[in-house]
Amino acid sequence: MTTTVNAYASPSATEDLVPTTIERREVGPEDVLIDIKYAGICHTDIHTVRDEWGPQPHPLVPGHEIAGIVTEVGSNVTKHAVGDRVGVGCMVNSCGECVNCKAGDEQYCLNGMVGTYGAPDRDGSITQGGYATHVVVTEDFVLRIPDGIDLDVAAPLLCAGITTYSPLRRWGAGPGKKVAVVGLGGLGHMAVKLAHAMGAEVSVLSQSLKKQEDGLRLGAERYYATSDENTFTDLAGSFDLIINTVSAAIDINSFLGLLTVDGALVNVGAPAEPLPVNAFSLIGGRRSFAGSMIGGIPETQQMLDFCAEHGLGAEIEVIPADKINEAYERVLASDVRYRFVIDTATLS
Ligand code: NAP
Ligand code: ZN
Repeated sequence: MTTTVNAYASPSATEDLVPTTIERREVGPEDVLIDIKYAGICHTDIHTVRDEWGPQPHPLVPGHEIAGIVTEVGSNVTKHAVGDRVGVGCMVNSCGECVNCKAGDEQYCLNGMVGTYGAPDRDGSITQGGYATHVVVTEDFVLRIPDGIDLDVAAPLLCAGITTYSPLRRWGAGPGKKVAVVGLGGLGHMAVKLAHAMGAEVSVLSQSLKKQEDGLRLGAERYYATSDENTFTDLAGSFDLIINTVSAAIDINSFLGLLTVDGALVNVGAPAEPLPVNAFSLIGGRRSFAGSMIGGIPETQQMLDFCAEHGLGAEIEVIPADKINEAYERVLASDVRYRFVIDTATLS
């Protein structure tokens, strides 16, 4: 039997989110029922519900930064137990059999991973996300939240944390490496914290110097305004790795010019508009322009353990559900310090 739970949903691309109820499936043998305590607001939620990436199956409950407590487990579940502190990120299933799933890169499942919301699930229903009181997820897509991290600051790690951790690791952020983070929002502030904890020398490239004090406190050694033209001449050829977290289309070529020979700019920001690259921006320094999407389940667990070990969590502003629409406007105005997290107790 399905269970009716309270949630917040987007009725259409042009309307505010509203309180609603949704059905969660019966807990199957491999499933875990999670009492959601906190859900982060990712800029992806906004792109998605406003149909910026294409038409969506409205009404839609967004939210893929989920932290909560296990309240029921199916008969075959071995990885989680009632009372465990757990998280769910951007995916809730994948084929498990393709080469990418086998390599722990379920986010690149060749048969299509099942997104946490707005995706056709195995039973044909459309998945609904974390702005809700409960969720049922197959145990393989449920992560352990280590004891050292509070659930509210852990929630954003499930997307903002892994999305920045994965490319930082892959492109070797560490001692002796100069890393620049473009955009100090939800993803950007985690990139700063994580790259600093990995031992890299971190710079922030923000639109202005408004958040400079925060950036330095979070672990950056330097902070530059991209609105200042001198930034691009002064820093030419100086970064080994640039992580672009900006949600809008920016002039990628100017940023490629800031890379060392063999440097890489990894794009995690996902604006709907194209990001045109001039070939000379790359060949003029044997540079790479790459992209990266969240991270696989094993790496997400590794990231959570890394955060616990280094005492890292997100910088958050906890809000009640009736402030979700206001929070969206503040995210769009780059007025977020640095992640809004919904207290789901306010949904009931
Ligand atoms: P966010 O909190 O809104 O942060 C984005 C930051 O980009 C802003 O705080 C702002 O930083 C900067 N920015 C915004 N508009 C800008 C503009 N017009 N020009 C220059 N800079 C601008 O968003 P988020 O949640 O971190 O997400 C960022 C992007 O990553 C979104 O597009 C999201 O969909 C995408 N995303 C991708 C993945 C993935 O797997 N690749 C996962 C999650 C999210 P400053 O004020 O410091 O300039
Ligand atoms: Zn996200």
